[in-house]
Amino acid sequence: TYILGIESSCDDTSAAVFKDEEILSNRIANQDVHKSYGGVVPELASRAHQQNIIPVVDQALKDAGVKASDINAVAFTRGPGLMGSLLVGTSFAKGFALANNIPLVEVNHLHAHVLAHFIKEPDGDNDHPEFPFLCLLVSGGNSQIVLVKNYAEMEVVGQTIDDAAGEAFDKCAKVMGLPYPGGPLIDKQAKEGDENAFQFAKPRIKDYDYSFSGLKTSFLYFLRDQIKFNPDFIEENKADLCASLQKTIVDILLAKLEKAAKDLKINQVALAGGVSANSGLREGLLNLAKKRKWKTFIPKFAYTTDNAAMIAVTGYYKYKSGEFANHEDAPFSRVVF
Ligand code: ATP
Ligand code: FE
Repeated sequence: TYILGIESSCDDTSAAVFKDEEILSNRIANQDVHKSYGGVVPELASRAHQQNIIPVVDQALKDAGVKASDINAVAFTRGPGLMGSLLVGTSFAKGFALANNIPLVEVNHLHAHVLAHFIKEPDGDNDHPEFPFLCLLVSGGNSQIVLVKNYAEMEVVGQTIDDAAGEAFDKCAKVMGLPYPGGPLIDKQAKEGDENAFQFAKPRIKDYDYSFSGLKTSFLYFLRDQIKFNPDFIEENKADLCASLQKTIVDILLAKLEKAAKDLKINQVALAGGVSANSGLREGLLNLAKKRKWKTFIPKFAYTTDNAAMIAVTGYYKYKSGEFANHEDAPFSRVVF
């Protein structure tokens, strides 16, 4: 069974081909147009998707060594994401399904981030979690602790009440004058800095929920005060600022994860989403895992941020259980998990 996966929820256009449990190709076209705006501009994103979608699919098919007529089903991201972006992938998937007379499978983008752990590669180690497991899903739009019961059933046990962790990284990076997306740049700078140089307040939020908007504000005010005395404060302390900020975000994320795993008596813990590329978070999780005797799962870098491989693998399991979408189904920008 060959599945074509299509992802276009935000600013990456991606296509992947999946064959019976194994990924054959995964092409991603990034969009540089947003860099100078300090964030994704929805209208520009949808136009870039329109330009990218056909060449990206073409490349993914070529890489996999298959023709359009070999594909058995097309899986696409229905939401959540930017409406204009989602419309491009959804419309393409419908057209492809009609032209090739094959079924359509809709995929929830967040489920796909979690199920990225089940992407098998022809020569990878392919170790994956057993159900049930806990997944810390941390991306540009979401921060949640998910109890994953099986391929279809996922329960959100905690989530952010305001900003996502990725947003906190990106907004604080912007305050320091770094380009978008700032998360990976903070990660890089943090390696040169002292994580205990500065202290930032951590939120007090109930249960397993998160809050990051207070951190962003206190970071902004802290810098504003320092700049009054020393206009070069940010430049002179960039690495220490990045390291301290990253440590604060990682500590916040891991404290709730530890609590949830303990209360739910789960000892298999996974990371997912763009922020799971963060080296501080990866290291922090491994240290915590040693202490708590968890088995941990961290996705390959290529499968942390948006990609169609995770859409194809999620689509594959829905295809196997006969869950197909209708051509009338419209994308959705927001979603209840
Ligand atoms: P969602 O999946 O919630 O709709 P999204 O698809 O925009 O959101 P992803 O592509 O999963 O989010 O992740 C992008 C986010 O990951 C950005 O906020 C980016 O800054 C962050 N990110 C990527 N790499 C790193 C890193 N090494 N350290 C910190 N943050 C990172
Ligand atoms: Fe995403």
